Amino acid sequence: MTKRTVNAIVLDEPLIFEESAAGKKAYSLAPLDVDDINVTDLIDESLLRSDIPGFPEVSEVDLVRHYTRLSSWNYHVDLGLYPLGSCTMKYNPKINERVARIPGLAAVHPLADDVLVQGNLEILFRLQRLLAELTGLPGITLQPAAGSQGELTGILMVRAYHTSQHNPRRFVLIPDSAHGTNPASATIAGYEVQAIPSDDKGRIDLAMLAQRLSPDVACLMLTNPNTLGIFESQIEEISRLVHDVGALMYMDGANFNALVGQTRPGDMGVDILHLNLHKTFSTPHGGGGPGSGPVACHSKLVSFLPVPRVEERDGAYALDWDHPDSVGKVHAFFGNFGMAVRALAYILSCGQEGLREISETAVLNANYIRARLKDYYHLAYQTPSMHEVVFSDRVQSAYGVKTLDIAKGLIDQGFHPPTVYFPLIVHGALMIEPTESPSKSELDAFVEAMIEAHRQSQSDPDTLTSAPRHSKVGRLDETRAARTPILRWSEE
Ligand SMILES: *Cc1c(COP(=O)(O)O)cnc(C)c1O
Repeated sequence: MTKRTVNAIVLDEPLIFEESAAGKKAYSLAPLDVDDINVTDLIDESLLRSDIPGFPEVSEVDLVRHYTRLSSWNYHVDLGLYPLGSCTMKYNPKINERVARIPGLAAVHPLADDVLVQGNLEILFRLQRLLAELTGLPGITLQPAAGSQGELTGILMVRAYHTSQHNPRRFVLIPDSAHGTNPASATIAGYEVQAIPSDDKGRIDLAMLAQRLSPDVACLMLTNPNTLGIFESQIEEISRLVHDVGALMYMDGANFNALVGQTRPGDMGVDILHLNLHKTFSTPHGGGGPGSGPVACHSKLVSFLPVPRVEERDGAYALDWDHPDSVGKVHAFFGNFGMAVRALAYILSCGQEGLREISETAVLNANYIRARLKDYYHLAYQTPSMHEVVFSDRVQSAYGVKTLDIAKGLIDQGFHPPTVYFPLIVHGALMIEPTESPSKSELDAFVEAMIEAHRQSQSDPDTLTSAPRHSKVGRLDETRAARTPILRWSEE
């Protein structure tokens, strides 16, 4: 195995404003051979400005090189392993991008009449059918733009369901191992959140759950596998308890990468769940979007799904708005259509066998890392791991080295750090999710880097506590960056 070396050309780069020189242009146009129009004939002069202060003037080559140099500072999923926790920065196959760029898909007008976009509607319809098949839940909306918006949509549907039974109810129960967006979504949907502790195996505490369940509970919101990477193996019993008080089972399915093709939430008693196409179904989600968080639901909740719905009648596809019980629209048009195109391309190119192999390999890879690192790093829970494994800094902190130092030290070894300090229920958590994408040699290189960081913590802790040294900048003042961001360039 070859060891990774860090040896990049990292040039200093001024702001584009600072590269500006009066009169430079990034375009050249042929001389005008038609009559010039007078702009003020079209737009009132009071609405026009004569000058854009500080607007950068650069040539095309300056412009291209500026942004290309900046892009080389980034660590990205096409560059190397992304061991980030539940964000599943898995590889996005390039075939998805090619398909999404087909002009009839990329350039279609969102207000085009249904008859003109039959193929586009068919894409949405077929994706819905496949997601219904994979989740075991018949109702699907592709509208939400993120997992968190899928949660909000789902909880609004839960509220609509209970309201139709004449009582919206008061509480949403959420385990302490849930994703942080869950309590936020439940609160925005008007519910009070009650936390359920985890047991010593890292699963929901069944006795505590039973105690909290009452006719005032609207639903349980269960992240499964949970953020410890542990499968809630008592899920059938949990579903039974929840249904016994007339509440609904909401599953946060953002971690579906661990389950896809193996088992179906609908078969476990789940009534409603969201998926993250930008996690499991390999659509890109750099820089906060665009994402896609479809919601899947049981037949008893279908009438509450957002409108419009894509429906098929006599071989033709149409957008159907006529659903009076619907929670309404949650996104402009039909959601992020390009994400749906990529996800469908991904599912079809993987096929049934391929999808199964994804979850098998994702789980195998996480367990390989677990097995190779467990003698160096403290394992937070002994329960078998699914797609991610959570260690802590307990061993290293005896030498004054914390999780953050280990993460920064990995940057100096050429790796993106894993998720740190999450989940909150593990002190000094280091959460590693390799996904199915990396090869064994890539996994081995990462493992060696982690072992090296452990050795450094004992023999040379300063290397870690002063890391990163090889990156463009060292440790940033993250609090100041968040509290007093400077987002605007000015000449002064
Ligand atoms: C990522 C994630 C979410 C939130 O999804 P976004 O698209 O980032 O809003 C919710 N739950 C879990 C378990 C996740 O991993």
